[in-house]
Amino acid sequence: MDHFAYRNGVLHAEDVPMSAIAEAVGTPVYVYSRATLERHANVFREGLQRIGRKHIAFAIKANPNIAVLRVLARQGYGADVVSGGEVKRALAAGMPGEDIVFSGVGKTRIELREALEAGVGQFNLELEEEGVALAEIAASMGKTADAVLRVNPDVDAGTHAKISTGKKENKFGVPIGDAPGIFARLSTLPGLNLRGIAAHIGSQIFDLGPIEAAYGKLGDLVHTLRAVGHTIDRVDLGGGLGVPYERDKVPPSPADYGAMVERATRGWDVTLYFEPGRVIVGNAGVLLTRVIWVKPGAIRPFIIVDAAMNDLARPAMYDAWHDFEAVAPTGERIVANIAGPVCESGDTFAMEREIDVVKSGDLAVFRTAGAYGATMASTYNSRALVPEVMVDGDKFAVVADRILPEAIIAAERVPDFLND
Ligand SMILES: *Cc1c(COP(=O)(O)O)cnc(C)c1O
Repeated sequence: MDHFAYRNGVLHAEDVPMSAIAEAVGTPVYVYSRATLERHANVFREGLQRIGRKHIAFAIKANPNIAVLRVLARQGYGADVVSGGEVKRALAAGMPGEDIVFSGVGKTRIELREALEAGVGQFNLELEEEGVALAEIAASMGKTADAVLRVNPDVDAGTHAKISTGKKENKFGVPIGDAPGIFARLSTLPGLNLRGIAAHIGSQIFDLGPIEAAYGKLGDLVHTLRAVGHTIDRVDLGGGLGVPYERDKVPPSPADYGAMVERATRGWDVTLYFEPGRVIVGNAGVLLTRVIWVKPGAIRPFIIVDAAMNDLARPAMYDAWHDFEAVAPTGERIVANIAGPVCESGDTFAMEREIDVVKSGDLAVFRTAGAYGATMASTYNSRALVPEVMVDGDKFAVVADRILPEAIIAAERVPDFLND
């Protein structure tokens, strides 16, 4: 459920007509609904209400806008981060350091030190050597780093190959069979408190079976580690729950997920960590765009919109589907292709799609664009960096400026040796 709906024939975000946002800010622009963000944060937490000790860390790579993070911080959410820049964003949004989980396969020594200075509450180690480095840096600062070891459970999440992370050939985690040896060595190091394990097997998951299988392997590992004397008080279960990009393809609900977690983790006696990303923000955002031209095509017309693959990369990157809806539909439908202005054939949002009839100048949205949308935007083709707006009831505010080509060019230099 979200708060984007038609009123008197015009698509609104909460109480604000999309046309008002387009007029004030221009297009393309991402539009987020605060009420939808809060609703999703609540629904996810309520799905886990039977879990005793838990910590929910929003995977901020899905949407790192600091206004979005502030909404979630006010809901008691922490952050799962994958870079030093994301640590800074979580702190800037008002999240306490201790609520931050630092994941990521390539944390540098500088990032580890800065995260320790910020008081980050958990480091998810990706390899033994990282644990050695973290222990050394923490000890040199007179600190002890809280950490868990990310294991690769070797299960197939059944999702797109580019967002599948839990198979043994993927770059993430240590082979689960190597975990006891790594624990034995790292647990002796001063500066490090290795207190649990983590897994994250992929994104946009529609089948709870592979997640449950992975959790079963984690349960076995907790048992094995305790049997040889390790204290295990945290298990990080990752994120990955899917969202309905297409109306008739419905993923498991947070309640279904919570029931599975309760069953799979019964008796573990740990604090469970969760890292949801897409499921919190996906349906809380749309990309608002204006039709530039309707270009006759050899087979179908091309609707050329002012949003492109640099603004929303998911269709080009993952063959992803985003519903396309006119802001003021006439009721007529047409089969057409939808494409952006970028000079790549991959800059195509949909082919042979039945959509609302639109004409040059009309507004439309791509739905379910709140996750992995603006955060992946670039300025390819020297296009502006797409702005973001948040709606709250009948108010809205720009929460990220449109960065114009002039500003980007101003950060470039022609060196002296080209001036003679
Ligand atoms: C990307 C990521 C997540 C979030 O995944 P979603 O599918 O957006 O829920 C969680 N944990 C880690 C380690 C990640 O890399």
